[in-house]
Amino acid sequence: MKITALNGFKDILPDEIKQWRIVENIATDILERFNFSEIRLPILEKTDLFARSIGESTDIVEKEMYTFVEKQVTMRPEATASLVRAYIQHGLYVQKPVQKLFTIGPMFRHERPQKGRLRQFTQLSAEVLGSASAKIDAELIGMASYFFKTLNLDVSLELNSLGCPDCRPAFRQKLLAFIEDKYDHLCDDCKRRSTTNPLRVLDCKVESCRKEVADAPSIQESLCDVCADHFTTVQKSLDQLQIPYSLNKFMVRGLDYYVRTTFEFLTSDLGAQAAVCAGGRYDGLIEQLGGPKLPGIGFAMGLERLVLLLQQQQEEQEKTCETDLFVAGFGEGPSSFTFELVHALRLSSLRVAQDVEGKGLKSQMKQADKIGARFVLIIGDDELDSGVGVLRNMQTKEETKVSLTVEAVLEQVNNSTC
Ligand code: ATP
Ligand code: MG
Repeated sequence: MKITALNGFKDILPDEIKQWRIVENIATDILERFNFSEIRLPILEKTDLFARSIGESTDIVEKEMYTFVEKQVTMRPEATASLVRAYIQHGLYVQKPVQKLFTIGPMFRHERPQKGRLRQFTQLSAEVLGSASAKIDAELIGMASYFFKTLNLDVSLELNSLGCPDCRPAFRQKLLAFIEDKYDHLCDDCKRRSTTNPLRVLDCKVESCRKEVADAPSIQESLCDVCADHFTTVQKSLDQLQIPYSLNKFMVRGLDYYVRTTFEFLTSDLGAQAAVCAGGRYDGLIEQLGGPKLPGIGFAMGLERLVLLLQQQQEEQEKTCETDLFVAGFGEGPSSFTFELVHALRLSSLRVAQDVEGKGLKSQMKQADKIGARFVLIIGDDELDSGVGVLRNMQTKEETKVSLTVEAVLEQVNNSTC
């Protein structure tokens, strides 16, 4: 019997390495420009480290950790706790008042594997320890945003504030009162969460729960003066750096240590696995893990998701460059005409595809889309009679009229390169 890799554990084969290197090289270059130093951390830590930092009632600690029970050790599910542990253990705060550190490596979570969701995955974590300034929040978010821009990835930024131990309890009460009426309509997870960690009800992915909490109170309106000021400065600083964002009152993040600023960068190209980078401020964490009372903020990026996006982007580009034109003739006359036209266009160097099975226009458009044709030339009876076809640019969806001669079609298609 063949032995295969465990479910959710993936080999990265030689032909994928190019994208990994692109991501890692661009990232390290940008991190250094923003004055970050690399730190490398162990994969195995005491279980207690994660239970105390991430929180007992979070998905990660409740059900996703790989723990050796007898030994009380756990394969790290994320890097912030380990990094803060190392920061305290080696007294890094003595060396520099503000430490900017990053680390890249595998994380382990026992989740249901699917596209963009693995049991061993790679995170790039960047953390700034020792500064409470809202400008640092904007700088860090700005760095991530610049990274996505450099990779040419289309992501959107969502922002929220989770308040602090001074103002969050009052919001929690407000939310509990709101949830009370909805309780019977919530999913089982949310029913449980409403007692252990009610804020998590806000980011439940179940559609019916989303509907129930749609008009839940917003934490942004319950912030104390200090948190409200902080949040305003973060937004102003992002505006100053011209980084677009939207506010999302439902984003609460699945880890207990966050306070004030939280953010996520999202893509619409990976289905449910939308978050490519997530982070926030954790001002109480260093002290909670036995260190000095110093603030911190950081983010983690899932590199597999970024590599997937780069691969999709490349496939898209390759696809769109392979076929210049799909000629869609429908009806007997047009089909016969296009058969000849396609041949002539090919002889004039265009890469042209057509349907010779007599399919309808809709099916032909689908085919054109599937092979990634840059243009489709549509010819029905009317077009044939008038000698003017419809040329559709498949990227811009723009339609123009074109004379049904080889020269005219060539000119229009060649005018737009891929
Ligand atoms: P998700 O909502 O997708 O479960 P998360 O909130 O659990 O993400 P974090 O714990 O904040 O994510 O981790 C930061 C980033 O690490 C995520 O935005 C994602 O890009 C990546 N990530 C998290 N879990 C996985 C996983 N199982 N497989 C691949 N990447 C992951
Ligand atoms: Mg998760």
